[in-house]
Amino acid sequence: MVEKPEVLKKNAEPLRVDPSFKYEVMKEPDGETLKICFQCGSCTSSCPTARFSDSYRPRTILRLAQLGIREKILPSPTLWLCTACFTCTDRCPQDVEVAGVLRVLRNLAVKEGHIPGIFPELASNIYETGYVYKIPEMRLRKRAERGLPPLPKASLDKVDRLIELAGGTKLMKPKEAQ
Ligand code: SF4
Ligand code: SF4
Repeated sequence: MVEKPEVLKKNAEPLRVDPSFKYEVMKEPDGETLKICFQCGSCTSSCPTARFSDSYRPRTILRLAQLGIREKILPSPTLWLCTACFTCTDRCPQDVEVAGVLRVLRNLAVKEGHIPGIFPELASNIYETGYVYKIPEMRLRKRAERGLPPLPKASLDKVDRLIELAGGTKLMKPKEAQ
């Protein structure tokens, strides 16, 4: 027998609905397309992440956003499984900017302090090196041994300035220090 989703179980906690949530999403660039989603499911059926995940469904996330059930979206680590490949956006028959709406939702999640652990680490790497991943010394030595040119160095003062302009400096500090 297929188990009922948590929200449909008899003693499930009632969900809080925030009627203003969809307007919060729709005032951001790409977010305005949320209102034209008619729930056909093409985004989910073409999403490469959904194919390998039991919980990640872009169609469901958009429906929850339309209904204003923010508590099921913003704190959820599932939101971060999107790889921004844009397949959903290409396939949507309604021209919903699905990947854009998901980006808006992640930005709102960050503003509320919901950032999965790996992201501050990746952000620190960009801060320190200009790259998302720190390239190990051993790999740099091997490049040199094989006569490959050194990797380009990032202009860290410009990276610093970009992060500051994007509001990243504030978000990267621990919440209590803001
Ligand atoms: S493909 Fe477009 S219209 Fe269909 S569910 Fe996804 S976002 Fe909504
Ligand atoms: S952009 Fe995200 S939601 Fe859309 S198809 Fe790619 S992984 Fe799936």
